[in-house]
Amino acid sequence: MNLDLLAIAAHPDDVELTCGGTLLKMAQRGYRTGILDLTAGEMGTRGTPETRAKEAAHAAKLLAVKWRGTLGVPDSDVQPTRQHKLRLAAVIRQLRPKTVILPYWEARHPDHYHASTLGYEGCFLAGLKQLPIEGEAYRPFKILYSTSFEGMPANLVVDITKQYAQRRKAILAYRSQFRPAPSERKGRVFLALDQLDNMMDLLARHHGQMIGVKYGEPFLQKELMAVDDIVTLPVRSI
Ligand SMILES: [Zn+2]
Repeated sequence: MNLDLLAIAAHPDDVELTCGGTLLKMAQRGYRTGILDLTAGEMGTRGTPETRAKEAAHAAKLLAVKWRGTLGVPDSDVQPTRQHKLRLAAVIRQLRPKTVILPYWEARHPDHYHASTLGYEGCFLAGLKQLPIEGEAYRPFKILYSTSFEGMPANLVVDITKQYAQRRKAILAYRSQFRPAPSERKGRVFLALDQLDNMMDLLARHHGQMIGVKYGEPFLQKELMAVDDIVTLPVRSI
């Protein structure tokens, strides 16, 4: 399939909330993008897995991704087991993404930090020739970690000012999560729409401000950035 960019996360809607703007921006640049949800989000308090799958497909359309799939790991039990890693490695070989976005490796939700480890190790294993799975050995070139949820320090921010409105639509495509029917609103975890809107706005503005734009999405790469031309570096210092 040869994707340019693949975002991997634990639950449907994680990608929309953390790097949806970046995925859309890269699609608008002509890159082939994709989303792999490790679970179907079946432990969500509201909605059924079927509604969530429909919502995820709609959100994928709004973000103009070429491919979206689910690995079938049980929700609330994302673990970097050998079995899950091999399945993920097979998907990596099939999609051959150049760049992969993973969740940051520390998080409040165990599924999120396990998704980070599972994602990294699956990408690594995909490059081992002797692995007992189908497909030609392949390893992505670059891994970026999305730090949006955890407020961890990022070392690069993507300007998503022009993509922000569409990203918001993709997030709100998860109606069962964020706009449930009145009868389902009693649950403790219900996040009111205005609260969600405020949180999205605040986070994206905060990161945008760090690079001198309105809205941004933060990432961290473990490697240092190589630079050829230090005269045209972006982001004003003073
Ligand atoms: Zn999640």
